[in-house]
Amino acid sequence: MTAFDYAGRLDRARRQMAERKVDVLLASVGSDLPYLTGYRAMPLERLTMAVIPQQGEPILVIPELEAARVATDAGTFSVRSWSETDDVISLVAGLIGGASTAMITDQTWAVFLLALQEALPGTAFRSARPVTEALRIIKEPAEIELLRRAGSSADTVAGLLAAHRFAGKSEARVSREIAGLLEENGTDVAGFAIVASGPNGASPHHEPGERVIREGDAIVIDFGGTVGGYGSDTTRMFHVGEPPARYREVHEIVRAAQRAAIDTVAPGVPAESVDAAARKVITAAGYGDYFIHRTGHGIGLDGHEDPYIVAGNDQLLDVGMAFSIEPGIYLPGEFGIRIEDIVICTEAGADRLNRSPRSVAIVD
Ligand code: ZN
Ligand code: ZN
Ligand code: ZN
Repeated sequence: MTAFDYAGRLDRARRQMAERKVDVLLASVGSDLPYLTGYRAMPLERLTMAVIPQQGEPILVIPELEAARVATDAGTFSVRSWSETDDVISLVAGLIGGASTAMITDQTWAVFLLALQEALPGTAFRSARPVTEALRIIKEPAEIELLRRAGSSADTVAGLLAAHRFAGKSEARVSREIAGLLEENGTDVAGFAIVASGPNGASPHHEPGERVIREGDAIVIDFGGTVGGYGSDTTRMFHVGEPPARYREVHEIVRAAQRAAIDTVAPGVPAESVDAAARKVITAAGYGDYFIHRTGHGIGLDGHEDPYIVAGNDQLLDVGMAFSIEPGIYLPGEFGIRIEDIVICTEAGADRLNRSPRSVAIVD
């Protein structure tokens, strides 16, 4: 278990709250709560909520039956458990008290926010995202280390897949095999494995199904899992037998686009410029209409988080940000090609966490 500096995170959150004149921050299900406290709530209908005042002791309100899962030795907050017959909304409303402005984490169930708003008509509720994002978007060295381990486990699996047998197996079966390989090779929890063969590759988030892979198929494999809660996410291309010239050509374009985007990464560069760099290469090659998604997304405790590498996001990249670079070209009815790596923004530019070969792997 990695020991994070939760007290330091709380201090930084409180400084952000003070700057924004926020009296209390409320964190429920989702990744903001474990980021701030080390405790991840099950997404239950029973309310778990950290009440973090700008000054004074943070309190974690938790269903009695969950209390045993909380490690209280962190010492940064106290625990208030509630039993099945308690009115938990009154309990939390009492802790919020006369706060004029409360921030609440984005993934809190709407039902609880609505009940709190009704109980506290004098309190203005705002999204906590400006505060939690400001903290979570810059990864600490211990977080980068976990992302690196997750990435290297995925790379090991990419290497094994280059020697894997695909022909005659369904996409769903290969997807399960990849999950097994991840967990045998350093990933704690396999998260997802998109296996999109032949024309299915033209659908970026294809759900692996019963289609049986055969000679001549192109295969998009996009997979990842977590180490210590931090994710991997990489995409590599496989081809059963020699690919046709056109496939090679499109693959080279995507590879060049990915390289151009990665070369653009540096502190102070707007996120949208990285997207533009990839898009420019693909558009110049005549495939602009077939690059149908943003170039990337941040990664950390969530598989998709800030910063989003997308046109319109003028947020400046900074040292310690972690995100994917994953341009693609999707030709309906034919095939799809995407190449994805996770990078860390450093003073010297992008540090790739994925090092497995980006060439097409020719497989059986
Ligand atoms: Zn995706
Ligand atoms: Zn992916
Ligand atoms: Zn991704």
